[in-house]
Amino acid sequence: MSKRDYYDILGVSRDASDDDLKKAYRKLAKELHPDRNKDDPTVESRFKEVNEAYDVLKDRQKRSAYDQFGHAAFSEGGGGGAGGFRPSGGGADFSSAFSDIFDDLFGGEFGGRRGGAGARTRGSDLRYNLTINLEDAFHGKAEQITAPGAVSCEACTGTGSAGGAAPSVCPTCSGMGKVRAQQGFFTIERSCPTCGGRGQIIKNPCSSCNGAGLVQKDRSLNVQIPKGVEDGTRIRLAGEGEPGVRGGTPGDLYIFVSIKPHPLFKRDGADLFCEVPVPFIEAAVGGSVEVPTIDGGKTRVAIPAGTQSGKQLRLRGKGMPTLRGGRTGDLYLEILVETPINLTSKQKDLLRAFSKDAGSKQNPNVAEFEKKAQSFWTEAKTS
Ligand SMILES: [Zn+2]
Ligand SMILES: [Zn+2]
Repeated sequence: MSKRDYYDILGVSRDASDDDLKKAYRKLAKELHPDRNKDDPTVESRFKEVNEAYDVLKDRQKRSAYDQFGHAAFSEGGGGGAGGFRPSGGGADFSSAFSDIFDDLFGGEFGGRRGGAGARTRGSDLRYNLTINLEDAFHGKAEQITAPGAVSCEACTGTGSAGGAAPSVCPTCSGMGKVRAQQGFFTIERSCPTCGGRGQIIKNPCSSCNGAGLVQKDRSLNVQIPKGVEDGTRIRLAGEGEPGVRGGTPGDLYIFVSIKPHPLFKRDGADLFCEVPVPFIEAAVGGSVEVPTIDGGKTRVAIPAGTQSGKQLRLRGKGMPTLRGGRTGDLYLEILVETPINLTSKQKDLLRAFSKDAGSKQNPNVAEFEKKAQSFWTEAKTS
């Protein structure tokens, strides 16, 4: 069987430009699309022919070999120095060659796989800032949050076109989503300005969604905030972010938890700290104090006689649960001995009378300090 001339197959002249070749090829590829020629058994071989011809002529090196030697340039053992070039298109599987080419050339025009720039896009991740109090972190909390979302527009069934009409192929890029511009010697390919790279345009945009195909609709989500959650904990809700575009997967929703400062408790990991002021008489003679616990209860704690400011008392297991469970922190009571203020003159007289009686046995730190200071002054004089 004698092979037809590549230029004849594509219906172009021998001095056709790259652009002419491409146009001719695309026109033929459309005509020979299997969807349009369901009952024509010759279409497969004709497409292979076209594909092979284009494959050779679009390539400068192969084209010049073909111009010099004809088909012999590509046959086994054929004459000509350019032997060894093999047209790849003709040998490829018909349908896979077709789908590759159509992805490349026409994007989603034929409703098959969608091409490059118009491809499905994953939805954005969303961040939700949630502020809770320490008690919520202790108990865990079921929280209902409202997240912005989008649903397919009912008026246009998500197409973005008024009345649900199918979008049309972008005339600027013929559905490729990309345009080429010549700049000096370079051909620059960029996203099509008319369709924004989607390859499709909407002639008559839907008025409900302004052509987006999606309408804003807030969603209610029930979130279980786990026990032991910490300030800055991030909770990921997979798939609850913004919906994807053109069938892409949705993004994720991240809940960033912050915990309000508590008026009584400070937290360090699983442990809690609570400053407990104790009147100085009680700190001196001993007593007890009732303290709150994070579970909402209270507990009475003994203050030993002679308790100093800064002393820590530990209540085991009265701290916070940990996120992974297994351990509960402790509650540390930090004692602050409070010096009385607003004394009456009678109270002052009583305290002065006490003070006359008190000495280094009652205030060992005062006595110790005075001793150190005296020796410091003595050293300073002699040196
Ligand atoms: Zn709409
Ligand atoms: Zn376009």
